[in-house]
Amino acid sequence: MAAARNLRTFGGMSTSVHALRGFRASLLRFAPDHAQAIFDQDGLLVVGPGAAGIQKVVAVGPYADVAPHYPGLAVEHLPGRIIAPGFVDMHIHYPQTDVIGAPAEGLLPWLENYTFPHEKRFSAPDYAADVASFFIAELLRNGVTTALTFATSHPTSVHALFTEAQKHHMRLITGKVLQDRHSPDGVRDETEQSLVDTETLIQQWHGVDRLGYAITPRFAPTSTPAQLRGAGELAAKYPEVWVQSHVAENLGEIAWARELFPESASYLATYADFGLMRKRAVYAHCIHFDDSDRALMRESGAVAAISPTSNLFLGSGFFDYAGADRIGFGYGLASDVGGGTSFSPFHTMLAAYYVGREGQTKTGLSLSPQHLWWQHTAGAAQALDLAGVVGNLQPDCEADFVVLNPQATPLLARKTAQANSLDELLFAMIVLGDDRLVERTQIACRSS
Ligand SMILES: [Zn+2]
Repeated sequence: MAAARNLRTFGGMSTSVHALRGFRASLLRFAPDHAQAIFDQDGLLVVGPGAAGIQKVVAVGPYADVAPHYPGLAVEHLPGRIIAPGFVDMHIHYPQTDVIGAPAEGLLPWLENYTFPHEKRFSAPDYAADVASFFIAELLRNGVTTALTFATSHPTSVHALFTEAQKHHMRLITGKVLQDRHSPDGVRDETEQSLVDTETLIQQWHGVDRLGYAITPRFAPTSTPAQLRGAGELAAKYPEVWVQSHVAENLGEIAWARELFPESASYLATYADFGLMRKRAVYAHCIHFDDSDRALMRESGAVAAISPTSNLFLGSGFFDYAGADRIGFGYGLASDVGGGTSFSPFHTMLAAYYVGREGQTKTGLSLSPQHLWWQHTAGAAQALDLAGVVGNLQPDCEADFVVLNPQATPLLARKTAQANSLDELLFAMIVLGDDRLVERTQIACRSS
């Protein structure tokens, strides 16, 4: 049964074996709908051109089961390596690539003293293009193949990033930041123009190749009610477009948001009041929630981008996994660079483990290695409404994957050699891994 499903040819089309490529290595993937990992010690991944011309997974499974169905297949053998889905980063700021590691006393001083002055520079197209190029290279070097990222308030910053991502055939989502108040000159935008610019960018970029647009109010305090209302109208008019923002990161921010929008039931509810909570709406942080907020997330279909290195770095607090699972809303992992401290999914997964363990402010628990990995691949894709598209290596998924070398460092080699189970192997890589573990990142290129 499983083998039959694995061997299904994409889209029912019969494809000549000459158009296919095979990769033989250990293979990690996930069951389609939950955090259960499947691992083939000696596996075969077969990729080929899909309906839209993008390389897709055609078959995957144990080598001995899959290989006989593809006589003559050109197979690249990668002994000792692990092929895994490319990582999905649910929340990052490409213009903050150079803000990483900025010393500041918490969120609001960090914004004022480092982030806003830096983001002003993205009005210059050449500058934006230069950072976009470095940013995409750094994502790929770390094994991240899909990201939902903030740009700045300047449309030039969006053009620069989409142009660069398109060059690399990446599935990437971004949007112009909306911030028409409580922001310094140079990053503050103008209400009406910001909405016109957003719609123009949607029409120009959303759905082009593998690119997607996200309506991007920075956070409620830096937008007027008129700007939030306009953003909500666009979110209704373009339901296939994403929405991204921040919420309930830190107590000072929450008090400020409550003061500015006293008529809303909570900070989170402010977004719902303006029509900004729906499927494909992604809120970074979601730390200081009560059960009404959690229920609002679940009912609206909005999801959380958990940003553990950022939350630890800025001292913001700890995402409550038990609370989220008790009420049942979607989530996945994010680096949140530059508040976050690393582009590496391994560092983010380890920080998520620390956050889960913390038991003073909420229930502490031990997230399993498989679950941590899922949160940064298939789980993140599911949260972005991209399940079966990216973040996994099931048949029909776009063929974005990483080749990992578990012998990349002496300690990794020593520790992974002693692993007695899949969880031990995955956790050794989560705890000890970084960009050195990622030997290669493969993007599902257009076939011709
Ligand atoms: Zn952020």
